[in-house]
Amino acid sequence: MGIFSGYSGLRVIAEGLTGNKGWKPVWRDPAPKDSYDAIIIGGGGHGLATAFYLAKNHGMTNIAVLEKGYLGSGNIGRNTTIVRANYFLPGNSEFYSHSLKLWEGLEAELNYNVMHSQRGIINLFHSDGQRDAAARRGNAMVNQGDDAVLLDRPRLRRMLPYLDFDNARFPVMGGLYHARGGTARHDAVAWGYARGADMRGVDLIQNCEVTGIDIHAGRVTGVQTTRGPIRAGKVGMVTAGRSGQTAAMAGMRLPVESHVLQAFVTEGLKPAIDHVVTFGMGHFYISQSDKGGLVFGGDIDMYASYAQRGNLPAVEHVMEAGMALMPMIGRARVLRSWGGIMDMTPDGSPIIDKTPIEGLFVDCGWNYGGFKAVPASGWCMAHLMATGESHEVARRFRLNRFETGHLLDEEGTGSQHNLH
Ligand SMILES: Cc1cc2nc3c(=O)[nH]c(=O)nc-3n(C[C@H](O)[C@H](O)[C@H](O)COP(=O)(O)OP(=O)(O)OC[C@H]3O[C@@H](n4cnc5c(N)ncnc54)[C@H](O)[C@@H]3O)c2cc1C
Repeated sequence: MGIFSGYSGLRVIAEGLTGNKGWKPVWRDPAPKDSYDAIIIGGGGHGLATAFYLAKNHGMTNIAVLEKGYLGSGNIGRNTTIVRANYFLPGNSEFYSHSLKLWEGLEAELNYNVMHSQRGIINLFHSDGQRDAAARRGNAMVNQGDDAVLLDRPRLRRMLPYLDFDNARFPVMGGLYHARGGTARHDAVAWGYARGADMRGVDLIQNCEVTGIDIHAGRVTGVQTTRGPIRAGKVGMVTAGRSGQTAAMAGMRLPVESHVLQAFVTEGLKPAIDHVVTFGMGHFYISQSDKGGLVFGGDIDMYASYAQRGNLPAVEHVMEAGMALMPMIGRARVLRSWGGIMDMTPDGSPIIDKTPIEGLFVDCGWNYGGFKAVPASGWCMAHLMATGESHEVARRFRLNRFETGHLLDEEGTGSQHNLH
């Protein structure tokens, strides 16, 4: 690929001087075929990554991703972009560790700039009990082969001088530092996986809503869509906040509730916040985007909803938590806020499993934290759909754990959700 044809600085200049007429669509816009070997319902991060790894790792290319809107219109393009491997429980720990390793090679793997930035995450603690919990979690992370450093207050103060150390309602006593954690550009992750899957022959079909799942004699045979019926021997339901509705089409009731989570971005500011920082006493997390906006969020709206917008009590709650931690952000003006629909499980951990229907698979329950899981989720879901066996790092994400009581009670965000 020449410097004037692929992605390069010279290409950008050349296109800018000639009216930007030379750019081609990055993926095709195919019409759905009558039949595929496998169908993925949902063109979010997890669905696209599943398709990519089905093609790349397992040589399955006669597959389609069916997306009711446009690629990246769901949570994959709505999150606060935090990537980390700081889980405590066996079952989650090895999965997120695997995911972080995939993130570290993702740009080379996709040949696409997803702006993965390992700027480090600092989880603050505010009491002796929280410090003990942070130390235990840090030890678990190190035992898993990941990194963690317990920061005392003087060191933290040097690293994060903008925190309110002197007058805070909850004294900042230190932090757990995870240097390999950070952020990535969310929609670039969707585009990168989409491009990689399309290049391998996967059909990415947008504006194609699945309206029914066809089952005969306990076996999936295809789907009904707004663009006609499509046959397939394997179907993966990867619809995040809509998972309950999708599974209902197959007569299943999932242990998933949908709730709105909101995010906020301020006007662009000079670099002020170098890391991702989370508040241990309020549910609040913040980073600064490459454009300078402060990107932050907090709790879900506590009532169940499919609306992709939130309400004012959660806004007030998030702003209060931010102000309590770093009063300087009170001067920044919020430019935008939005909501996404979260697929919340009772134990906060995900599901990647077969269903009782032969050929029908489910990947859901990503709670607050499914962005960082995208690479490993795609990897493990593809493994499951191709081989019929759970991947070893996802073997605890079973659907029947809610029946048997083998819960992974981590809340998907750390051992306590406010520790993130
Ligand atoms: C505000 C916010 C902040 C977050 N912050 C973080 C964070 O910092 N770090 C982190 O790790 N995670 C975070 N998350 C969580 C993360 O974004 C999600 O867990 C993850 O993106 C969900 O998986 P997905 O990308 O596949 O979902 P989506 O992008 O929502 O993909 C699902 C797709 O399925 C499609 N679909 C649904 N029904 C059908 C149907 N019937 N037919 C066809 N298509 C259908 C939808 O249109 C959608 O595009 C955040 C989420 C939100 C909303």
